[in-house]
Amino acid sequence: MVDTNQGRRLVILGTGGTIAGRAAQAGDNVGYVAGQVGVADLVAAVPALAGMPLAVEQVAQIDSKDMGLPVWQALAARLQVHLDDCQVSAVIVTHGTDTLEETAFVLQRLLQPTKPVVLTCAMRPASALVPDGPQNLADALAVVRQGEAGVVVVCAGEVHGALEVAKVHTYRLDAFDSGDAGPLACVEEGEVRRFRSRGASVASHDPAPLARFLAADALPRVELVTSHADADGSLVRALMAPGAARPLRGIVVAGTGNGTVHQALTDALNAAQAQGVRVVLATRCARGRVVPHAGLPFAHSAGLSPVKARLALALDLLME
Ligand code: ASP
Repeated sequence: MVDTNQGRRLVILGTGGTIAGRAAQAGDNVGYVAGQVGVADLVAAVPALAGMPLAVEQVAQIDSKDMGLPVWQALAARLQVHLDDCQVSAVIVTHGTDTLEETAFVLQRLLQPTKPVVLTCAMRPASALVPDGPQNLADALAVVRQGEAGVVVVCAGEVHGALEVAKVHTYRLDAFDSGDAGPLACVEEGEVRRFRSRGASVASHDPAPLARFLAADALPRVELVTSHADADGSLVRALMAPGAARPLRGIVVAGTGNGTVHQALTDALNAAQAQGVRVVLATRCARGRVVPHAGLPFAHSAGLSPVKARLALALDLLME
């Protein structure tokens, strides 16, 4: 367990989100503006953080629906500085819920941290009558004290792994889920109760992918399409039309069920693939993965959700 009171600092990076949101009326949990309250003020609302050796930084102040490469680059760069600093024990990141799973995936993939990196959030704004952000921050502190390396998400008393976590509810405080894998742990009154291990940890970290990511002007263009009844492939043909400002490099298709894709969409995707566009198959089902078999129409996403498969493909293309 990390004793964050023994000289080493905890770093808290703010990026915005509902946790930093403010509404005109305290009773309004939905009509607020995200990314209004500074991370230092969020920290000040958490008694468990008082008096601890910590540093706070405002890396961004956005609604995470607008997350993208520039903020990820800023966040990853600051995280790397702190992860390399032997005086830093762990990092907490405050973030909006909407794209939290994508940020967690990108950070785990690029940084493969050897210290705890805990992303936390809120479903109610800081101005709410009963905000959930302070409790989530306190729970994040309990998780970093465990000292376990890697990126996790803490929300509503649950700890989720970066690969599995997904936002599954629009409104409830427990908005996140880890699908079939289930959460890694829960936090009860400051105690972490573990349900399963994270799996293999990374012994050595290759710094080259992060350097490439930080130097990129844009991620390779990968679009996401969904198979559905009455699909006709016209969206894919539109994506392939000449004249795009950025060339299309990949398509992730969220298939039906166990990776089935409407024949008309399959035909359009095969035509795209024949022109050099990489096609990856995920499933639009909230639970389960595409179970591999010889009849799958495209390479599968190895269990990644459509949004994470999109990022995995974009990062793979960036590293080529
Ligand atoms: N739109 C907000 C955001 O993702 C939602 C939230 O944080 O709950 O920043």
